[in-house]
Amino acid sequence: MNNRSKTSDSNNIAGRFAPSPTGAPHFGTLLAAVASFVHARASGAVWRVRIEDLDQDRIMPGAADQMLHTLEACILHWDGPVVYQSQRNTAYEAALEDLLQRGLAFACGCSRKDLQDAKSGPEGPIYPGTCRQGLPPGRTARSYRLRVTDEDICFDDLVLGCVCQNLAHEVGDFVIRRADGYFAYQLAVVVDDAWQQITQVVRGADLLASTQRQIFLQRQLGLPTPLYLHFPLILGPDGKKLSKSEDSPPVDLRHPERLLHLALSVLGQDPPDGKAEELLAWAVENWRPSAIPAVATLPYSVLSSLT
Ligand code: GLU
Repeated sequence: MNNRSKTSDSNNIAGRFAPSPTGAPHFGTLLAAVASFVHARASGAVWRVRIEDLDQDRIMPGAADQMLHTLEACILHWDGPVVYQSQRNTAYEAALEDLLQRGLAFACGCSRKDLQDAKSGPEGPIYPGTCRQGLPPGRTARSYRLRVTDEDICFDDLVLGCVCQNLAHEVGDFVIRRADGYFAYQLAVVVDDAWQQITQVVRGADLLASTQRQIFLQRQLGLPTPLYLHFPLILGPDGKKLSKSEDSPPVDLRHPERLLHLALSVLGQDPPDGKAEELLAWAVENWRPSAIPAVATLPYSVLSSLT
């Protein structure tokens, strides 16, 4: 079966794959592509690709093209044009301006050093509110932050169930435009998911703790909240997140069927053997998000077989 056969633009559901081109695609990147692709196709959604190349200091020249080449080699065909965040600044400006005008965001003059004594939360220092009521005398605007409220923000993750976070207690007012001038990932992702009419976000659990900030931003901007599915972090044999691990070599595209088979297995799907196209068709027909495991580790032998 052709893996695009379930695709339809008419039911208004859309998934996406949104890699940051900071290095050569590795197995963790491919996993996000496969999971979001199969979930989209299994639910009859279009699947879009967005290159998150906002932070020009972190991108690796050529990595975005390598990413697209990897998708093509693994016959993960996307719908519509590829969106590049580096070309979307006007939209982010407009969102920031709107939030500032409504008093929902504020200029902050604090440096990292100024916050080093702040209480620490799961995502780093919890912003102590220094510039919330206006810049203190002698301070100039460096970044812009979103004013958070003291409430539990909860969502129903398709793998993890109900996940809640109180932004005021665990994160604090968070940065939406950074001191170096780049828009923050949280703002860009929310503006773009809405603009691309994304209704399902499938990504790794390393972004789980960003989700409540994104939902809060969606609410402040009057944007819809998509469904979320976070698959487990894949740890390398050294116990580190695969993308940060020394053992996460670039994927070898000579055998896409091996990569797809492993990706689907890691996602708990028990695929048969077959060619890449057959594997994807099988995965779309038989996709079971409930089979995705909570934790996954890749042994050395498996990782070395990918290079
Ligand atoms: N660009 C992010 C990354 O590569 C993913 C963003 C997202 O899926 O929301 O880690």
